[in-house]
Order: sequence, then C-alpha cells, then structure tokens
Amino acid sequence: METLSIIVPCYNEEAVISESYSRLKKVLNQMNDFQSEIIFVNDGSTDRTAEIVSKIATNDIRVKILHFSRNFGHQPAVTAGIHCCTSDFAVIIDADLQDPPEIIPQLIETLKKEQANVVYCVREKRNGESFMKKLTARVFYRSMNYLSEVSIPLDTGDFRLIDRLVITEFKRFREKGKYIRGIISWIGFKQVPYMYRRDARFAGETKYPIRKMLHFATTAMLYFSQKPLKIATGLGFVTVLIGIFYALWALVGKIVGFSHALTGWSSIIILIVFFGGVQLLTVGVLGQYIGILFDEIKDRPEYIIEKKENF
Ligand code: UDP
Ligand code: MG
Repeated sequence: METLSIIVPCYNEEAVISESYSRLKKVLNQMNDFQSEIIFVNDGSTDRTAEIVSKIATNDIRVKILHFSRNFGHQPAVTAGIHCCTSDFAVIIDADLQDPPEIIPQLIETLKKEQANVVYCVREKRNGESFMKKLTARVFYRSMNYLSEVSIPLDTGDFRLIDRLVITEFKRFREKGKYIRGIISWIGFKQVPYMYRRDARFAGETKYPIRKMLHFATTAMLYFSQKPLKIATGLGFVTVLIGIFYALWALVGKIVGFSHALTGWSSIIILIVFFGGVQLLTVGVLGQYIGILFDEIKDRPEYIIEKKENF
C-alpha cells in the first residue's frame, strides 16, 4: 500500500489545532487506499499547542510529533517535517485551515492523472485576508519572479503535494536558509498547478508579523538571485556615467565660462548626497550577501528537536 504523510507546522495554534486534526482525520479516513500519517511540527509554541497535540498523539498512533526546542520559524518547521518523512507522498499544509484539507484527494488524483511529481496549489481567490496581506503578497510574488533566476509560480504558497523523488532530492539541500517553494521549483521534474480558494484563518491570529515576512522575503530573494548584486553594479555604472558628464560639463564650462562654478553649492550637495546614497546602497546589498555567507559558514543546525512522539 502507498504511504502518505501530511506535514503540519504549528506555532501557537491552540485555537485551531483540534479542528485541524479532526478535518484532516476525516479526509484521511476516506482515503483508505493509502496508509497515512500526520506529522505535526510544534515550532516552539508557548501556548497549549504542545499539550493538545501530545494528547491527540496518545490516542492516535498515526499522529507523529516533532517538538522544537524553541521557535525556529515556518520554513525550518516544514523542512524538519520533510526530513523526517519516509512516505511515498507528502502534503505540506498550514495548521490554520486556510488551506482546505478536503482537496487532498483531488491533489493525489491530479498527480496520478498527470503523472506529475509535484502538485502545487495556486490561490485563485483569497478570502478573509487583510488588504495589506494581499498587497504585500502580490508585490512579493511579482518581484520575486522578476528577481529570481528560476521561475516560481505566482500566488503559490507551500501548500502542495510532493512525491518520493522530490522528497529525496529535497533532503540533499544543505543550505540553512530555506525558501521551500523556490527549492521545490528548482528541483524540477513534472510540476502541475491546482487552483483553489484560500479560506480565512479558522481562528487565532496570523503568526507571520511583518518582521517574519520581511525575513522570509529577504531569504527568498537573496538565496534565489544574484540580481540585487547586478542591479547594484548597474547603478554603479550609471552613476559613473553621470559623474563623467558632470565633470566634463564643469570643466568645459569653467574654460568657456558658462558653468558659474563658484555658485555651485547646491550641485555639490546634490552630488554628495546622490553618490553617498548609491555607495551605501551598494555596500548594503553586498553586506546582505556577506551576512548569508556568515550564516551558512557557521553551519549551525537549522532546527533543534527536543522530543519526538510516535516516531
Ligand atoms: N508557523 C510556524 N512557525 C512560525 C510561524 C508560523 O510553524 O514561526 C506556522 C503556523 O502555525 C501556520 C503556518 O506556519 O500553520 C502559516 O502561518 P500563518 O497562518 O500564521 O501565516 P499566514 O497564513 O498568515 O501567512
Ligand atoms: Mg495562515
């Protein structure tokens, strides 16, 4: 019989986790041609999430849990889930029921029908999310695609079905800062979309405040693109050109007498500010990449598991 793992990262999800489990269970019970399991990754929750999932796991041996030693973030949580997954197929899904578990059978069906290795879920509609969230997401996906060297499907989160081949390849990725949807796109094989409507969060608050979103967006951009470096170089070229023209203008103007060089206070200030800005910006971009190198060279673990249950 084929095996299926459902990977659910959870951080402070006490308000939704029981409902999440019961909806997942219902779906898995209907899929009786699969031997399935749920892997909850408790990402250092500080509320009653750990307690609730542990209780679920004592009553249901198909439920496995990884408890992190602290909050490491959504991407490390999903990564840990994939690392511990030994099934033929895995579904990555959020705990908050924004991604409806009921479409999992259709994902499997699509995968089989198309003989694909990945079915990624594309948000056709997003219900109950704030204007800001939708706007930032829109800007993010569009600019990522412009910047990135692999094309990453628009409006696609981590909600997807992946098969054994992809799971095995994913485990070979050694980078610490993981941008999972990018990596899976990068891996290749046959990947097909599945359109769905993203619901509102079942209960509780988003666990992605602006700080985490920015961190996520920077990892995505810097790990998947060297375009910021190229843009910085381009900017350097442009300013050098401007500099040359300005110097010529000033020089010739001085000789011929049209530049009023002595009254040039504003132009000096403008140039200092402009070139200073460009330099700082360029150094900043370089610094970001050096920061990544620093993080990667330290070679720290991506996450620390405090306890495993039912493994
Ligand atoms: N999550 C996590 N660690 C974090 C933040 C979020 O494991 O540090 C989980 C969270 O419990 C949820 C999923 O990642 O299952 C997506 O988070 P959320 O729904 O808050 O993000 P949003 O849908 O608002 O982007
Ligand atoms: Mg959510």
